[in-house]
Amino acid sequence: MTSRSDQRTRRERQYECPVATDEQMKPTTATARAVYIHVPFCLHHCGYCDFALVANRDHLIPQYLQALENELQAHRRIVGEAVEVDTIFVGGGTPTHLSPDTLRTLFGLIQQHFHPTKNAEISVEANPDGLDTERLDVLQGYGVNRLSLGVQSFDDAVLKTLERTHTGAQAIETVRRCQQWIPNLSLDLIFGVPGQTTVSWQRTLEIATSLPVKHISTYGLTFEKDTPFFRREQHGQLKRTPDELERQMYLDAIRHLTDAGLRHYEVSNFARPDFECRHNMVYWNADEYFAFGPGAASYLGGIRRTNVRSVVRWLNAWQQHESAVEDAEDLSNEEKAREAIMLALRMRKGLDVTAFEQRFGLRLVDLAGAALQQHLDDGFLTQQADYVSLTTEGLLIADTIISDFL
Ligand code: SF4
Repeated sequence: MTSRSDQRTRRERQYECPVATDEQMKPTTATARAVYIHVPFCLHHCGYCDFALVANRDHLIPQYLQALENELQAHRRIVGEAVEVDTIFVGGGTPTHLSPDTLRTLFGLIQQHFHPTKNAEISVEANPDGLDTERLDVLQGYGVNRLSLGVQSFDDAVLKTLERTHTGAQAIETVRRCQQWIPNLSLDLIFGVPGQTTVSWQRTLEIATSLPVKHISTYGLTFEKDTPFFRREQHGQLKRTPDELERQMYLDAIRHLTDAGLRHYEVSNFARPDFECRHNMVYWNADEYFAFGPGAASYLGGIRRTNVRSVVRWLNAWQQHESAVEDAEDLSNEEKAREAIMLALRMRKGLDVTAFEQRFGLRLVDLAGAALQQHLDDGFLTQQADYVSLTTEGLLIADTIISDFL
């Protein structure tokens, strides 16, 4: 899956830190109202994917559930009682790779420790293949009200390059079927795939917007180190899409999706009115959240903790009731403020400077005056009333601009 962009971007910072004790895990505040659960199983490991997951190792699923239960119980000993939350996001991996019975066990576990509020957003990531009506029935029964489908493309040649295990026709059929069970649907789409043309991308966008979906995420393909795609690219077997063509595809997406009535609310995300992903908004607003499972990162009481990415190491640790936190960082107020700038700039509305300065007791110009002025002068940022935000030019190099504020 690719939609939990913000659990992903958290991995960028790695810290040397001994395995945490329960005391180190203790949150100093308990204001989080969002929880992420990572399910690390897939039918097949797509060659471009570097998420924490295993494929063809379904025999580990019972151990995963036991380890997750232990991790959730350790959290419960700290917080004392079930926590009320506004958002639950079950991502992966492919959560719907689990059997219907296993999904019941998983949601039963989550509900023991987290109570969704009446209007909570409960999202699950899924792939078009294997998402049968029995699974949809289970998800609906447990209150899941948002599905994020890893469609990636409707072009079979592009899907083949990406090593996806479904066809474009299957994806269309799945979207139509899911819509009858869980109407709040989001699609993930990828551009910049080797061999993909602007015509193919345009066709994928047209099909996506002709379907009954509320939200679309678009990502440029990246060649992450330690993936088969990276190695194939190094050996000349896969050719990266030229930057200019990739930029064109991104601009095509912005134009097509906004013309179709979706609001571009974050660098990679588009939504119909009131269908922004509330869980991801928690990340972008630099608010707190719980997270469980291999590779998952939580942010509680100003401390970011990241679980070990290896599924087997995470399993082994929690089966022994030992913490699997690999990295932990107690962020200073200035570090929190810089992260908040970086995250807010990902949103199209940008950074509310007054609210930011009140929240952190720091002035933006004191923290990042030089970078701010430079990017305003170069036309990559704009300032209107209280908000600083990326311009269209800035969007095209968003990661570079944003990293200047860290
Ligand atoms: S299905 Fe999604 S999570 Fe699984 S390997 Fe493919 S891209 Fe990664």
